[in-house]
Amino acid sequence: MECPNGCPTPLKTEKQEKIFHRNGEPVVISDLEVNVCPQCGQETIPLPSARSIENILSGKVKPSGKFTAELYEVSATV
Ligand SMILES: [Zn+2]
Repeated sequence: MECPNGCPTPLKTEKQEKIFHRNGEPVVISDLEVNVCPQCGQETIPLPSARSIENILSGKVKPSGKFTAELYEVSATV
């Protein structure tokens, strides 16, 4: 797997937590494997992860819990 920006460094697989939206509602997916380029930071989503996201967003997968978090907007921090 190579960086789509053409960097010579191989991509690193990382597990991340990402927020997606389904019907306007935020959905958090944890332990999602993404490939990250150590050089330019470009992220690509490998096919198995893309499939998981698709299944989750289409409602085929039951959630394993609720995720609640405080929301901060950058404009309110100054
Ligand atoms: Zn790169």
